[in-house]
Amino acid sequence: MTQKSPETLNQFAAQKLESIAQRGLTRHLIDTDRTDAIHLRRNGRDYLSFCCNDYLNLARHPDVQAASATAAHAYGAGAGSSRLVTGNHSLLAQLERALADFKQTEDCVVFGSGYLANLGIIPTLVGPGDLVIADELSHACLLAGARISGAKELIFKHNDLEHLAELLSKHRGDHPNCLIVTDGVFSMDGDRAPVTALAALAEQHGAWLMTDDAHGLGTLNDGKGSAIENGVRANIPLQMGTLSKAAGSYGGYLCCSKQVADLIRNRARTLIYSTGLPPATVGASLKALEIIASDAERTRKPLENARLFCRLLNLPEAQSPIVPLILGAPENALRAAAALEKKGILVSAIRPPTVPEGTARLRLTFTAEHTAHDIETLADIIRTEQLI
Ligand SMILES: *Cc1c(COP(=O)(O)O)cnc(C)c1O
Repeated sequence: MTQKSPETLNQFAAQKLESIAQRGLTRHLIDTDRTDAIHLRRNGRDYLSFCCNDYLNLARHPDVQAASATAAHAYGAGAGSSRLVTGNHSLLAQLERALADFKQTEDCVVFGSGYLANLGIIPTLVGPGDLVIADELSHACLLAGARISGAKELIFKHNDLEHLAELLSKHRGDHPNCLIVTDGVFSMDGDRAPVTALAALAEQHGAWLMTDDAHGLGTLNDGKGSAIENGVRANIPLQMGTLSKAAGSYGGYLCCSKQVADLIRNRARTLIYSTGLPPATVGASLKALEIIASDAERTRKPLENARLFCRLLNLPEAQSPIVPLILGAPENALRAAAALEKKGILVSAIRPPTVPEGTARLRLTFTAEHTAHDIETLADIIRTEQLI
């Protein structure tokens, strides 16, 4: 007798889950309500958070919340359709103009999310026969975009310019177009890409450079992001990013030339076949960007706070608001996170496959409104509980 298909489907899911559990990699969604800039509530208990990407605490900023509500009242709860049909409410053009001005590019295209942006941008620019070369620690959605483009994929060792140059010398000539992709700030390690040198290499080999500035916007160089190195703006033709981190809202973007932006509007499938962002979300992003552009003091705090923490524990100086404490096995990271949780502090334990095998870690993120006292408390617990 053949099995009923729902039964085999459920068996399939159960077996997969069992194998995930055996490796200590089960993930759970836990109800979590953020109660103010840096605190949240989980299972009836309040925690101090060092795991939100809301680096400037703008998600709950009263002006941002008010702008979001105003936009919902004026333009409705949803966009109603793709931007190419009737979903292109006028806040979107305002946001694109504001982002292009802030990043000093000709144009900008806003997508539904950062993930959608990368899935849309990369296959628009390269396809079968072309070449994509990615830093090995690039965010999952850059690699997913490269994969679905159908271009040949090569990986260079993390921030290793020599390895990248070698790959370019060997392979560039065999492909009509070549795209180099990397995070500007690496999401799980907090270090930065050497953007000036990458831009020079790309130019030398006739390749296009694309950076993902998800964690740089709002947090580096008075908020302008990771494209500026030692005060000088690197020549990066494709600057992608997200509004879901320091901007405290949601949505992805690509800052680029007018020609590239027009091509994206014509060809990027995740823009064309997905509904435009809700007006409330775009209204929030616009206000957040205004705050980022005008309040340099606030944009400097997350990195200053990360650096204070590193000094307290004699760690290498932070390059961004993200500080990893690498602990090896998944159980180590879970145990350390649980010890902090007991003391009322929430941090994220990051395990494979999000990070390479053997590098499970605590990923700490510092924000503008953490106080020196908050950071000292965290460092004290890590020291006394001997978590590192
Ligand atoms: C969070 C993140 C994304 C995805 O952005 P969303 O807007 O949340 O989809 C892309 N790239 C990097 C490096 C990220 O950290």
